[in-house]
Amino acid sequence: MRDDIPKMHRLKRVVEENSITKTFVFDCDFQVQPGQFINIWLPRIDEKPMSVAFADGKELSLSIANVGSFSAAVHQLKEGDQAGLRGPYGQPFRWEAKQKIAMVGGGFGTAPLYFTAFHAIQDGCEVDLIVGARRKDLLMYEDRISKLKHTSLHLATDDGSAGHNGYNVQVLQQLIEGGKKFDMIMTCGPEVMMAAVAKLAEKYKIPAQISLERYMKCGFGLCGNCVVDPTGDTTCTKGPVVPLEYVQQVAEFGKYHRDSMGKKKEW
Ligand SMILES: Cc1cc2nc3c(=O)[nH]c(=O)nc-3n(C[C@H](O)[C@H](O)[C@H](O)COP(=O)(O)OP(=O)(O)OC[C@H]3O[C@@H](n4cnc5c(N)ncnc54)[C@H](O)[C@@H]3O)c2cc1C
Repeated sequence: MRDDIPKMHRLKRVVEENSITKTFVFDCDFQVQPGQFINIWLPRIDEKPMSVAFADGKELSLSIANVGSFSAAVHQLKEGDQAGLRGPYGQPFRWEAKQKIAMVGGGFGTAPLYFTAFHAIQDGCEVDLIVGARRKDLLMYEDRISKLKHTSLHLATDDGSAGHNGYNVQVLQQLIEGGKKFDMIMTCGPEVMMAAVAKLAEKYKIPAQISLERYMKCGFGLCGNCVVDPTGDTTCTKGPVVPLEYVQQVAEFGKYHRDSMGKKKEW
């Protein structure tokens, strides 16, 4: 079941994750598969897609970075306030029981990967979750990930203030070249990072899933705002999570995307 008309939901809790990101926990009974997204609507302001950071049929969490006008407005919400939610939308991450999975997350992309790991380990999977950020104070979810069973947390920061001094993709490369065998790689975060992950997956012939983010509006393939070149597929229905073979056909992957008016913007 999915709601295509936004319904108002009460904000139960707000958790500060790092200097720019907060998690908003709503009273919400949506049944969500990890990797799917919802649209959050603030009346008279705007509506935007957000990956679901966690949902259990009673609560639904969104981890939102304060990067612009809409996200700044969401950051003003207090416990007891209401926001419209509709969805869930799109294709989730998929796994098979007992797989060894590498997950590579950057920014708020770490949140849906945590949600995915939470469920995958219940199917006997083992997870290496590699979280990257520019600096230590921009890392998120370390505590939550550390508490997951059968999950190894790896950190990487561009300035070396925590974990590996460099990119999370380098950590993945070290793990693979060190002999670690993965059945699947999953990635969510900045596209340039995901393009590097995709290259590694190709090189080492490891199946991979990528969470492709485009400017989505309707969420169900009607408005055409999130189509990609040259396939013309709407990312909101084809994705956001797509297999490696799919991004290999998307000429713009890792190169450019389109803004709200359809204008090309390089990453
Ligand atoms: C499927 C999907 C899932 C998403 N999940 C999340 C999520 O879980 N958490 C989340 O915070 N956002 C998520 N987003 C992005 C979100 O929809 C908005 O684009 C984001 O909140 C910025 O909106 P804004 O109006 O605040 O900023 P805008 O005014 O749109 O942008 C302000 C500035 O921030 C930059 N910017 C825009 N979006 C991002 C971004 N996502 N990260 C970094 N810089 C950005 C723009 O280039 C611009 O310079 C998701 C997007 C998609 C398509």
